[in-house]
Amino acid sequence: MSMNTQGRPTSAGDTTETFRPKTFTGNRALDMEEPLIFEFGSVETCGVDLDEADTPEFELGGHERQAEIGLPGLAEPEAMRHYVRMSRNNYAIDSGLYPLGSCTMKHNPRLNEKMARLPGFADIHPLQPASTVPGALELIDELAHWLMVSTGMEAVAMSPKAGAHGELCGMMAIKAAHTAANRSPEIVLVPESAHGTNPATAALLGYKVVSIDAKDDGTVDLDKLKETIAKHDGNIAGIMLTNPNTCGLFERDIRTIADLIHAAGGFFYCDGANFNAIVGKARPGDLGVDAMHINLHKTFSTPHGGGGPGSGPVVLSDKLAAFAPLPFIRKTDSGLELVETNEATTDGEQPFGRMTAFQGQMGMYVRALSYMMSHGSDGLRQASEDAVLNANYIRVGLQDLMSLPYGVRPCMHEVLFDDSFLKDTGVTTLDFAKAMIDEGYHPMTMYFPLVVHGAMLIEPTESESRASLDLFIATMRDLVMSAKRGETERFSGAPYLAPRRRLDETSAARKPVLKWTAPEPVEISPSEAAE
Ligand SMILES: *Cc1c(COP(=O)(O)O)cnc(C)c1O
Repeated sequence: MSMNTQGRPTSAGDTTETFRPKTFTGNRALDMEEPLIFEFGSVETCGVDLDEADTPEFELGGHERQAEIGLPGLAEPEAMRHYVRMSRNNYAIDSGLYPLGSCTMKHNPRLNEKMARLPGFADIHPLQPASTVPGALELIDELAHWLMVSTGMEAVAMSPKAGAHGELCGMMAIKAAHTAANRSPEIVLVPESAHGTNPATAALLGYKVVSIDAKDDGTVDLDKLKETIAKHDGNIAGIMLTNPNTCGLFERDIRTIADLIHAAGGFFYCDGANFNAIVGKARPGDLGVDAMHINLHKTFSTPHGGGGPGSGPVVLSDKLAAFAPLPFIRKTDSGLELVETNEATTDGEQPFGRMTAFQGQMGMYVRALSYMMSHGSDGLRQASEDAVLNANYIRVGLQDLMSLPYGVRPCMHEVLFDDSFLKDTGVTTLDFAKAMIDEGYHPMTMYFPLVVHGAMLIEPTESESRASLDLFIATMRDLVMSAKRGETERFSGAPYLAPRRRLDETSAARKPVLKWTAPEPVEISPSEAAE
């Protein structure tokens, strides 16, 4: 066993050891096998010691619960252990590189968390009168300001709670603008490489989705776009386009695309989920964009999930600003006010309605603003540059072994490979991803975008150090060489070392079992029951 200079072993041990004990507990060393809480909790157990309640007067007019709901109780240490053990089965950005393309899994700075926990932000309630929370309104307004500055846009709707929700908001504003102009165009154009949420959003609003082909280089085919616009002349509500697109490429013709759409009477919705690649470098407002959502959990480092809904504010051009949904903040001489109803609107404000019960996700606003302020404009630009640099570092480290569908050229914040390098190896994209799990990596985004066969989309983000990227590249190279040498077993049965092996993902998706059913109670014969 090799030792480091401090006399400590440098690896886990002799890797030629093949004996793997079958343990009595099912645990694997300190990785615990964790049952469902329903399997070991008990309805009789309670983590707190409460006084017996006085039987209350029922006030529900006969709607009170008739039977036990059967929730399992645990003592506090048991509850603690259950959730801590389960959390150890989670792979997170806090445990390692998370190269999931299109998702921008970047580090969530702890400073953000500290700010979000300040009682003045954390302990306020959405039903508190707005006059008691001027600081919170100021924070929302300040964040809105910097979102508009960084995108070069006129207005921002803050309330949407995710990227997809923001898309819906932006497209509803577009629909409202058409309606206000007595127009009702029926078609939304969506390029082939779009994120699935784009056509879904358009379809949800009753639009007919018409797809635009990509050129061989992965970007929108302008000639096809022109043809389609001419074919549906006068009936085009807008286009939904992602830039940088889901192949990690910048749509260089974006200004022309914007002009074509505007000339056709449509609006330009830009999916801004990939904004992390261009912050401080390009402003969507200068590119002719009319509406764009910003995923605060991607670009501005707020956590993905965990702790409630996310936040997907939508920046709007001057043509759409008037249609922003309620509630919104208005600046007056006496300060900021929250406009919550149609009655409170003034001339020119024509909100299309309301997307959320309250003003949006306060905790995410605080985190995003904390991230912006701690970075400053130079730091935000640097983060984008580093995100792009890191993706290209991986591209260059792997492009001789893995295949780039659009040839060797620089990418933006993510690098897209296809599976042609696996041809004739007997290893599929899925096998390859599973083998990465054994190596301690969350796989990259697989089989997306659909325009590429066996897509593998890698987005390291700016959070990774050079050492971390080097180890990732070396691991990937080792896997590729192993596949090319015909070591299929390493892939076909992977993951070998995860708490669960390969799951039947199709059944899990098609026939999800979402409810735990208690095992049949043991039969008690009538005579026993009577005793
Ligand atoms: C993540 C993403 C979305 C959806 O954002 P959510 O916050 O997950 O709803 C939309 N488009 C693209 C390109 C994305 O990467």
